[in-house]
Amino acid sequence: MNTPYWISSSEQRNFDSLKEDITTDYLIIGGGITGITCLYLLTKAGLNAVLIDANRVGYGTTGRNTGKATAQHGYIYSRIEKRYGLEWAKKYYKANSEAIDFIENVSKQHNIDCQFKRLPAYLFTQDESFVGKLEKEFEIYQQMGLDCSFEKEIPVPLDVLCALKMNNQAQFHPKRFLDGLTEHAIKQGARIYENTRVIDFQPGKECIIKTKNDKRIAAKNVIIASHYPCYDGKGFYFARLKPDRSYIIGIEMESFPDAHFINVEEPAISLRHIPEEKILLISGENHKVGHKDDDHYQKLKDFAKKVFNNDNVKYEWSAQDYISHDYLPYAGYINSDYRNIFIATGYRKWGLTNGIVAAMIIKDLILDGTSPYEELYGHLRVMDIVNFNFLKENADVAVQLISGKLKIGETEIPDETGTGIVVNVGGKRCGYYREEEGDFYLVDITCPHMGCELKWNSQERSWDCPCHGSRFDYKGNVLEGPAEYSLNSYNEPKNKINPQIM
Ligand SMILES: Cc1cc2nc3c(=O)[nH]c(=O)nc-3n(C[C@H](O)[C@H](O)[C@H](O)COP(=O)(O)OP(=O)(O)OC[C@H]3O[C@@H](n4cnc5c(N)ncnc54)[C@H](O)[C@@H]3O)c2cc1C
Repeated sequence: MNTPYWISSSEQRNFDSLKEDITTDYLIIGGGITGITCLYLLTKAGLNAVLIDANRVGYGTTGRNTGKATAQHGYIYSRIEKRYGLEWAKKYYKANSEAIDFIENVSKQHNIDCQFKRLPAYLFTQDESFVGKLEKEFEIYQQMGLDCSFEKEIPVPLDVLCALKMNNQAQFHPKRFLDGLTEHAIKQGARIYENTRVIDFQPGKECIIKTKNDKRIAAKNVIIASHYPCYDGKGFYFARLKPDRSYIIGIEMESFPDAHFINVEEPAISLRHIPEEKILLISGENHKVGHKDDDHYQKLKDFAKKVFNNDNVKYEWSAQDYISHDYLPYAGYINSDYRNIFIATGYRKWGLTNGIVAAMIIKDLILDGTSPYEELYGHLRVMDIVNFNFLKENADVAVQLISGKLKIGETEIPDETGTGIVVNVGGKRCGYYREEEGDFYLVDITCPHMGCELKWNSQERSWDCPCHGSRFDYKGNVLEGPAEYSLNSYNEPKNKINPQIM
């Protein structure tokens, strides 16, 4: 059940892990939409580029989303207009529209069977307190001259108060698109290594990267496309990004209007049909990683039953993304000092277009030294580092760093199977998990990224970090997020905390 439709319905070849020390002009870390688009664009321009991934290409968030390609990202335009002015709002729309065109054009050009389809996107509310926000957003749409309308109803059985319809948006199969792009990057000379995790990064004129399988890469330029940056480069991304998780179910549904839908309030609800498979994806139940352990899938199933009278669930999976303090992504130079290290992150669950925009920005910076979107996506955006959200978020990180340490865990090993429990073994707080068959695991639950206390996620049976979103299976292996080291078991030394960040 936990394999996303996108991954189970695509075929992809495996790539070997890195087996020797190498040197390259361009190293891309991370094989999601950002990294693979960069790889495609750079090799198309004739550059020598290598991509490595800790796991498999397309198995990160790019293989686990709802496959909408749209420039309608919540009520983002009124937010940008208020903070940075109308011109930046227009630029954000233009950048994301270009990304949709990129998917359409590249998939046509290379015959990538990725189910690309143009359709309208709806942003709706059922909550009185959000009507004003949508009215304001519509006002900005009109000032920007968008092809849009203000609606009182939407073509699904939900009582909405109002909705914004944005025409000419799209949906596609993100994993098949990624696989197609990967094949063409390889034809253009790209090299790819999977199961090759970065664990050490030394910046410099030539950056030196060490991998978990003990290989060394010397790269003149590095693009960090690892979703959460695996190297921070004094850019304070660890303090600028909030990890947010969402859940998706796929129910069998023969027909559905040609459009996709999302609300603005909480709990979030997003609807997207896959006509080729006759499946409706219902997504939502978002929460900050490690902060809410609930039966999220059941809540989505309750919604499906209530609204569509349908309990024929075919798929369920979950994923997370990172949100910046002003809701805009970061893409470009990692900081003002290093002109050979690039970063792309903070897509707020709209990375299928923003990841492509990020790759285009990085390609333009490399080839031309400038990009029309450099400032909008840049790390030097004014105000974001001192605003209220930033302070609130980092106060929360500080609380998470110490709070877990103060509470006392259980002192006796419990009998329960299939659930994670915090226990105290010889004065050391550990995460305990017993398999149905009786084997049990005791791991140090101090996050090896920055030292926060991990929390149990009963839906995914994982130990999750409430600070920066690293996740580990109950045996302690890294599943996702910024942590580079797995969790030690209780009889080993304490977890190694990433020295570069501390
Ligand atoms: C539930 C959900 C629904 C979404 N729906 C949509 C949608 O409909 N439309 C949309 O536009 N966006 C959507 N998004 C957002 C979008 O999927 C993501 O923003 C985007 O896929 C992120 O791409 P990426 O390339 O940055 O990261 P990823 O796809 O996660 O790729 C990063 C890669 O880096 C690798 N990596 C990590 N650390 C290391 C390391 N140390 N060394 C080497 N490799 C490493 C990982 O293995 C991974 O393969 C959704 C997100 C969620 C959570």
